[in-house]
Amino acid sequence: MADRVCTSQERTELNTKLNVEDLESDIIIIGAGPSGAVAAALLRKHGYQVTILEKQHFPRFSIGESLLPQCMEFLEEAEMAGVIQNAGFQHKNGAAFHHDGTSTSFDFCEKFSPGPGTTFQVQRAHFDHLLAQEAERKGAEIRYGHEITKADFSGERPLLGVRTDDGQEYEARGKYVLDASGFGRVLSRLLDLEMPSGLPPRMSLFTHVEDRIDHPDYDREKILITVHPKRRDVWFWLIPFANGRCSTGVVASPEFIESREGEPLEVLREIVAEDSNLSTLLANAEWDTPARKIQGYSCNVKQLYGSHYALLGNAAEFLDPVFSSGVTIAMKSASLAAKALHRQLGGENVDWQVDYAEPLMAGVDTFRTYVNAWYEGSFQDVVFAENPSEPVTRMISSILAGYAWDTNNPYVKESRRRLATLADLCRG
Ligand code: FAD
Repeated sequence: MADRVCTSQERTELNTKLNVEDLESDIIIIGAGPSGAVAAALLRKHGYQVTILEKQHFPRFSIGESLLPQCMEFLEEAEMAGVIQNAGFQHKNGAAFHHDGTSTSFDFCEKFSPGPGTTFQVQRAHFDHLLAQEAERKGAEIRYGHEITKADFSGERPLLGVRTDDGQEYEARGKYVLDASGFGRVLSRLLDLEMPSGLPPRMSLFTHVEDRIDHPDYDREKILITVHPKRRDVWFWLIPFANGRCSTGVVASPEFIESREGEPLEVLREIVAEDSNLSTLLANAEWDTPARKIQGYSCNVKQLYGSHYALLGNAAEFLDPVFSSGVTIAMKSASLAAKALHRQLGGENVDWQVDYAEPLMAGVDTFRTYVNAWYEGSFQDVVFAENPSEPVTRMISSILAGYAWDTNNPYVKESRRRLATLADLCRG
């Protein structure tokens, strides 16, 4: 008999026959990206039953490829650092900056705060898959192709509606839900928690290239951030990987990008060609991969937690990619939430505002100060200053390395005031 497409009624009957059983788990995590995988590993250390429901199948592409040294501490805490250190990723020890003929760089080992001074630049498909596999090895269950479509927190136990990618539906109940769904922002959408970001809308175009960079001064151990020669609010990243390829992309206002015609890859190449340093570096590159576009990624929420749930990583807040802080913030949120949840499930009274939201936002707000000052120009004046003071450079290097929660650093503790004074000094 020839194959034919099922009618919708036949499909419903088939699904009923194949009905996936409803799920009960201590902790349900939405999404298996870095925040979900690290939270799962930390909670498994205490023996909780942890189930991750992940919409996609891994490995899958994700942007966010340059890590910060601070995140190595969270990987250590989750006992996941070893697998990342042994994966052959590109070693990273700092950040280089270029603007219209002026180059400068920060060495993350020369920093004020204690803690690791190096990290990696990673293809996220592989990195995220390794972390997810580690979480599974530690006893977390991951259900790939399972998308959260509904959420109900009105009862005693949270209830989630799940749809599998073969069309079945079931309910998942837990004692607690961690939303680590990244740009999916599942609970903030379903529970109406979204708020507009205070940052202006920005757009990014990016791709991977076979870079063939042979310039003797080019340092593959650093991310290169290039400011557009004519527009200080437009910048590029160049993130080398260990296999001779690079991630490259531009961030600009939507108008700057959309005023140009052509396929996204052509537009990206056209904008890259406007910077002579970047175009010299990439002169022999093979642009073999279509460019992707992402916009409106900055977000804010009304609250980071509620009765029986907390929002992690990008599902909670996303600022801006300029300082590569996304994965570090995601892992910090996982670390704080796992501690608070362990105490709560152990019978303690946890104040999620004091134990989770405030400590997380302290670092996010530090990054926010530097992101705002970057686009406004004052932090660029600091970055490109001639003859910077060495102690101050170490303090700024700490922040660029992700140590945005270290209040011993005056540029963290009083970030806005200190940065404004420093920028005035740098401008002369
Ligand atoms: P994600 O990594 O996004 O993982 C979320 C997971 O949830 C996904 O696998 C998704 O499939 C799943 N999911 C979504 N919806 C559902 C659903 N309904 N049901 C079940 N599962 C669901 N960060 C850096 O650290 N370094 C960088 O260099 C950097 N560059 C960036 C460049 C750009 C242009 C942008 C926009 C961001 C960049 N970031 C960077 C940020 C980085 O991408 C994120 O901060 C990071 O991926 C957040 O991790 P996460 O675990 O919160 O979410």
